[in-house]
Amino acid sequence: MLCNALKNHRLPHAILFTGEDGVGKSSAAIELARVCNCRLTGGQEHSKKDAAGEIFACGNCRSCRKIENGVHPDIHSIKPSGGYIRIEQIRSLYASLALKSDAASARFVLIEDAHLMNAEAGNALLKILEEPPDLTFFVLTAPDTRDLLPTIVSRSRHIRFNPIPQKELEDYLVSHRGLTGQQAMIVASISRGSMARALNIADADWINYRNFIVETIGELPGLPAAFRHAFAEMLAADREKLEGIFEIMKNWYRDLAVFPWSPEKIYNQDLIRQIKNRAMQIPPHLLIEKADAVVRAEKALAGNANLRLTLDVLVTKLAQ
Ligand SMILES: [Zn+2]
Repeated sequence: MLCNALKNHRLPHAILFTGEDGVGKSSAAIELARVCNCRLTGGQEHSKKDAAGEIFACGNCRSCRKIENGVHPDIHSIKPSGGYIRIEQIRSLYASLALKSDAASARFVLIEDAHLMNAEAGNALLKILEEPPDLTFFVLTAPDTRDLLPTIVSRSRHIRFNPIPQKELEDYLVSHRGLTGQQAMIVASISRGSMARALNIADADWINYRNFIVETIGELPGLPAAFRHAFAEMLAADREKLEGIFEIMKNWYRDLAVFPWSPEKIYNQDLIRQIKNRAMQIPPHLLIEKADAVVRAEKALAGNANLRLTLDVLVTKLAQ
């Protein structure tokens, strides 16, 4: 669809990509910016094609490399900072768009996680979308159109990104990451169609680590307070890993809750026996409370709460 729009010189000035995290929305946006600005194959003529008739970027010219390295002066990227996209970010975008761009470039504004714009920022963006500067294209990404201001959705061309089929992910992990078939199956099933998620966890170590986390949170209720503190301290020591750990915990409690009704829908398919045992032991309302506690901890830390304190509160809740 994008290639056709390019061939006909009818690229919409605002495009909205929706879909789960890690299915390729941002990568596609960057590729689009590269194609439109490639000095060798594209530029504003958008006319060069490969044998299959697809439009492509060379990947080697100055423009392609600058975009890849995130230093192209006419590619503006806006991401949430501190959990939100704020009005100041849109104002400074407005100011830079008011400056003249390099005449040879198509300017791109990538707004990642546009659903995290607060209403003020959303309305400011809307004003820009209503009268977009020449040769400037906006690409917004979000999980779903329902997460955005309807006025922004109605001004954009919407393209939905589907999850990557499990079998495709598995094959990729085996051929490109050297996982065994069994490991690839586990990683692909946890990743739920997201390449980013799959690549994050694509190694045998991750599977061991997941096993360690789910065993530990399963045993927490019977363990002494000193152990719980040690566990919280261990989690706090490696902040980089926390996002992944929260994901493991949420998936685990979700699987325990889902198992009695639809065992075929659990994510941790390889742990079905443990899930069956545990699911009998914990009442459903407690599972929901624990999963909620994980989400609360995640949000608190996104908002700069005290790390150690937040994890202590979380581990205490998980130990109930
Ligand atoms: Zn190029």
